Amino acid sequence: MTDKSTDQDRASGGAATSRRGFIKSTAVAAGATASSLPALGATDIASPPVANPAIRGHGTLGKTGLKISDISFGSSRLRTGEERLVEHAIERGVNYIDTAESYTSGQSETVIGRALKGKRDKVILASKQFATDSSTRDEMMHELEASLVRLQTDHIEVYFNHAVNSKARLDNPEWYEFVSKAKEQGKISWTGISGHAGRLTEVLDHAIDHALVDVILAAYNFGQDPAFYERLTKSFDFVAVQPELPRLLKKAHDNGIGVVAMKTLMGARLNDMRSREAQGHTFAQAAFRWTLANPNVDALIVSMTGIEQIDEYLGASGAQTIGFNDVELLREYAHLNGATYCKHACNKCEGACPFGVPIADVLRTRMYATDYNDVAFAKAEYGMLAGDASPCLSCSGEPCAGACPHGLNIAELCAPTHRILA
Ligand code: SF4
Ligand code: SF4
Repeated sequence: MTDKSTDQDRASGGAATSRRGFIKSTAVAAGATASSLPALGATDIASPPVANPAIRGHGTLGKTGLKISDISFGSSRLRTGEERLVEHAIERGVNYIDTAESYTSGQSETVIGRALKGKRDKVILASKQFATDSSTRDEMMHELEASLVRLQTDHIEVYFNHAVNSKARLDNPEWYEFVSKAKEQGKISWTGISGHAGRLTEVLDHAIDHALVDVILAAYNFGQDPAFYERLTKSFDFVAVQPELPRLLKKAHDNGIGVVAMKTLMGARLNDMRSREAQGHTFAQAAFRWTLANPNVDALIVSMTGIEQIDEYLGASGAQTIGFNDVELLREYAHLNGATYCKHACNKCEGACPFGVPIADVLRTRMYATDYNDVAFAKAEYGMLAGDASPCLSCSGEPCAGACPHGLNIAELCAPTHRILA
């Protein structure tokens, strides 16, 4: 039984439409037989466009009991002066706001703090810090307190260790000392990890097995589930990355850990799809419906950067199924972008560069510049990488040639990325 429900379900007192049925239907839409897949199948055409878009569904974050809007506010690109975006989302029913101390160099938290004046009790706040395997509890507390000041609040409901890509960071005992003290002081209520890189599944397995977290925030989209994606794209032979991810989301859910999905748009090249969208059904909504149809996902966050965009996104709120029209949009998107999109979480090129270029991370920041069209954000993220792509400027490209099993020309992508973002 799922713990995610639509507001209509609750109003009528009835059970939510089974998302298991959804899942079967998606698989059929993807060209598979329902019996050949563990989930995801196709039912009918997509729901009609929604008038007055607003939040129509909520998910419960595992044992925390927090009920959050199924489509929630991601703020990685929120900048000074954009308080109205936060306010608009709240007016539309969004009640979960996700930020991080590093987003837009602190502007994101500051803007949210201003926007929440008089409204703090209407939302559940999540923020993050990047605690390393050698960070001390005092350093962590200092980071948290700086976030509280920027957010103009005395507590954060869910506090994440940000972009965890190694078990060593999970095993730093200082994190747990810090968490214990911060909870005792009422500064945080729950903790989690976020992740989107090559070792995501290994890190999630470890965190779940050792009950280290209350909530996970994981990159998860239709290109990361082989049961769906490899059938969806069988005519052009694309392989899903992170084949273990669906199993781990279920394992987290079964263990009472809240599951929030991010990066659900597989690169978010929304403009590529506009000419293919009809009658108010958009690719973004289709991608969200696919994610929300997974009973192991409680909610998703997405960067909200415009009023109209928020309304478009919320048109998919309350979804518990996905239709043929949605599947067709996902298929077209995969066809257009599957050959050039760096599935940074796959990281199969790791170690291919003798000069230590962090290829997957570099190409993730490239995505922010070219797909999200946000060069400033991309530059900020590029500046935070442990290494950069400067060696590519004078390299023949031979060492990494053929290192990407998805056919990306790493040398041709990395060198220009450095020129733009360095
Ligand atoms: S370049 Fe290729 S191998 Fe490397 S992370 Fe991207 S998709 Fe994976
Ligand atoms: S082009 Fe050269 S420096 Fe750049 S990633 Fe490939 S091997 Fe490394």
